[in-house]
Amino acid sequence: MGELNWAGNYEYRAARIAAPTSLDELRDAVSGASKVRALGSRHSFNALADSSELLVSTAGLPPLVRIDETARTVTVGGGMRYGDVARRLQDAGWALHNLASLPHISIAGAVATATHGSGDRNGNLATAVRGVRILRADGELVELHRGEPGFDGAVVALGALGVVVEVTLDIEPSFDASQRLFGGVPWEAVASQFDAITSSAYSVSLFTTWDEPTVALAWVKERADAPSGIEDAFFGAPALMAPRHMIETMDVRNTTEQLGVVGPWNERLAHFRFEFTPSNGAEIQSEYLVPRARIGEAIDAVRRIAKVVSPLLLVSEIRTVAADELWLSSAYGTDVVGLHFTWVRDQAGVEAVLPALEDALLPLGSRPHWGKLYLDRDGVVPSLYPRLDDFRALARSFDPDGVFTNDFVARYLQS
Ligand SMILES: Cc1cc2nc3c(=O)[nH]c(=O)nc-3n(C[C@H](O)[C@H](O)[C@H](O)COP(=O)(O)OP(=O)(O)OC[C@H]3O[C@@H](n4cnc5c(N)ncnc54)[C@H](O)[C@@H]3O)c2cc1C
Repeated sequence: MGELNWAGNYEYRAARIAAPTSLDELRDAVSGASKVRALGSRHSFNALADSSELLVSTAGLPPLVRIDETARTVTVGGGMRYGDVARRLQDAGWALHNLASLPHISIAGAVATATHGSGDRNGNLATAVRGVRILRADGELVELHRGEPGFDGAVVALGALGVVVEVTLDIEPSFDASQRLFGGVPWEAVASQFDAITSSAYSVSLFTTWDEPTVALAWVKERADAPSGIEDAFFGAPALMAPRHMIETMDVRNTTEQLGVVGPWNERLAHFRFEFTPSNGAEIQSEYLVPRARIGEAIDAVRRIAKVVSPLLLVSEIRTVAADELWLSSAYGTDVVGLHFTWVRDQAGVEAVLPALEDALLPLGSRPHWGKLYLDRDGVVPSLYPRLDDFRALARSFDPDGVFTNDFVARYLQS
């Protein structure tokens, strides 16, 4: 058995995995191979990160954390995990605007795939990027900053430009937050008051298995400096009086503190605690980012095929992401709603269900999450990215020989 991704559903085909501990070692590794891909914390679920020849793990690169209080930025090593950076920021009195459901993912890996948390006014994690420093195949280090030509293509770049060795992120003064769970939101309320539901707090997530009479859970996170005013019920759903995992059978100790207990942002915005294994572990994930204007149709369409979807499902999460201008972002040009599916780890079974799901969601203009399992049998995904040609030109200028291209990325780079 070769090297696996975090979930164990994908075995890397690369002949070698190098583990450089310095920029010089990284440069040597990259220059000695004709095909290379950067490997972050291995949390993606498909062949995106793979290489036919060499993978370079970023986990052992120097753990830079440089805070610039005047510019309100932090510059970090691309291989660092959000959880480690978040602790350093919190200790220094600073915060990021949001986190994904787990803090275990690498910064450059998460940014490369437009990883997101939730919140109507929160852009995905890539929108916090103010600068990137990329090691190209020719050994050159190239820096791009927000506002410069090409920057909007170089942030969510699927690893196709080179190895991102440093990322500069926007920071803001540290804040406290709390989260409460509410049980059983009526589908009728989700259909008729979707905007009111998702805008009612800093971050709102709905959890369902689609075949239930009500949406099982609303997971509501609020900032202490912007109280939501929500009391003991949320659109008809009562507040839970005991903590819960979103997958009912899982240990609640894995989740960040609930029941409205106020604490630092980095211990509330992610669903899972940094110290524990997030989610289920033996799982596969898929997610489709639906243009917000079409969410009603999308929810109806998935509910109609609940009998097909639910048997393999551990849980689904519905959450919102603000529009941005990053060319390959799943929220490019439009507010989106993520319909996320955590499946049991049955690759063949999930691949048999995805056609029905994609028949329901892709015609609505939904973009699959780059790092999760999707099929796109009809090859419509390229048409969902209006700036793809610009990205292709950018990739050619960074990497004319296609050293950082693999089969997965080639589907998007070739017109
Ligand atoms: C339990 C779990 C929960 C998740 N929750 C969320 C969530 O809440 N929201 C969400 O949007 N996604 C979520 N994801 C998906 C995850 O955030 C993405 O797959 C993300 O890309 C993982 O980052 P990684 O470092 O593990 O990347 P990897 O899987 O290691 O790599 C992903 C891509 O990033 C590239 N890459 C990695 N490092 C670099 C670098 N230094 N330079 C250039 N390219 C690089 C790789 O080449 C590859 O193309 C979750 C995944 C898991 C397993």
